[in-house]
Amino acid sequence: THHVHIIGGGLAGSEAAWQLARRGFKVRLSEMRGSGEMTPAHQTDGLAELVCSNSFRSDDDTKNAVGLLHHEMRRLDSIIMQAGEAARVPAGSAMAVDRDVFSAGVQRALEEHPNVTVVRERIDALPASGPTLIATGPLTASALAQNIAKATGADSLAFFDAIAPIVHRDSIDMEVAWFQSRWNKGDGKDYINCPMNREQYATFVQGLIDGEKTEFREWEADTPYFEGCMPIEVMAARGPETLRFGPMKPVGLDNPHDTTPDFPQGRWPYAVVQLRQDNKLGTLWNMVGFQTKLKHRAQVELFRTIPGLENAEFARLGGLHRNTFINSPVVLDRELRLRGAEHIRFGGQITGCEGYVESSAVGLLAGLMLASELTGKPWSPPPRTTAMGALLAHITGDAEAESYQPMNVNFGLFPPLHDVKKKARKEAYTDRAKADFGEWLASMKSAAT
Ligand code: FAD
Repeated sequence: THHVHIIGGGLAGSEAAWQLARRGFKVRLSEMRGSGEMTPAHQTDGLAELVCSNSFRSDDDTKNAVGLLHHEMRRLDSIIMQAGEAARVPAGSAMAVDRDVFSAGVQRALEEHPNVTVVRERIDALPASGPTLIATGPLTASALAQNIAKATGADSLAFFDAIAPIVHRDSIDMEVAWFQSRWNKGDGKDYINCPMNREQYATFVQGLIDGEKTEFREWEADTPYFEGCMPIEVMAARGPETLRFGPMKPVGLDNPHDTTPDFPQGRWPYAVVQLRQDNKLGTLWNMVGFQTKLKHRAQVELFRTIPGLENAEFARLGGLHRNTFINSPVVLDRELRLRGAEHIRFGGQITGCEGYVESSAVGLLAGLMLASELTGKPWSPPPRTTAMGALLAHITGDAEAESYQPMNVNFGLFPPLHDVKKKARKEAYTDRAKADFGEWLASMKSAAT
């Protein structure tokens, strides 16, 4: 008998299977590749295949949030980190791996484990009972995706992301930008506004049109442009005034810094870039309507010409991809369980985290939650001052549900350390995280014995 059914043998599903197996639980790991099925991005039948780059990004755990996530996962004996270490290739301070050696390492560890049964099968329906983890990733097969949509409500499952850049609040120049909601609706602090005059606007629109774009992959070519999440550069190309009557509309926004209004409207700027709060902590703000396929370097260059954003630091840059993910802050509880069908958990990128390491980490957490549930031990999440805790808190409720889009781990998700000088802040985040993670780990271990 299998105690746990994990659907999807990618990064998250493999990690969760490993964590459960090590703790003595029997796992059935269902992976459709190898049964004659394939996703549009995978190339092999190997478990935990890396579909694109071979990098786990920065391995610096003293100043970098993803490096910190590496550190925490290592302390939890992550199979992804172990197999990654064994497959490591030189990449400076980044962690890069030989993808074939890596995937083979993960697969061997799971196949050799007596508690894991890897079954090559496609699952189409949500199991009606029994502890289940869905970790089918950004390219979840369509029958299962349809059934997930039935369970979550169609509005809560997306097939494409439409990511607007997200800016760290403390990098916005508030001598230039200002807080205000259009016509002072709401509590007046809902938006940060960055003003542009006529020349700045014209140059900016041209910059959007001329900027270098990433192409859709062949299998993404049918990506629909929904009104409301059309790339900003596509909108800009429709005509010089389109943005000024769309996301860059200035009406109802009075610039308090402008004492000599020389704009056509008198008191309103010619155009405005608005940012909206992206997390409950108020540390991250997304650029409203700025989903884009501009290359990352082009985005940084162009968006730093926006008045008030000259020194902007981006928690993430914009994008548009095929990406199956659920609105986790709404449909999942704090333990990654589907509300209304609590035997089902979600893990990995389908929860709305983004990236190899983040997906593995959220698979790892789902595995730990399942293990504590099956042993009847209360679960206490890692503190939100840690990388795992911050990521988990974000996807299970702290993100703004309305604008929920996939997220990488970054220090903007951590409770802010305003008192620490900016230069020392990253190290302060990691120091605090490591100490708190250690305490949490110790309390978990003592609870388990
Ligand atoms: P996956 O690793 O995709 O695993 C899901 C598994 O579920 C797959 O093996 C799939 O075959 C299986 N599956 C799906 N449906 C079913 C079903 N119904 N029944 C059984 N099995 C099923 N992240 C980075 O950090 N760097 C990158 O460079 C990068 N590039 C990317 C490029 C592309 C084209 C895509 C789509 C994503 C990229 N990502 C990248 C994100 C990265 O893929 C994911 O973060 C990571 O693989 C997600 O891990 P996961 O375990 O959630 O999903």
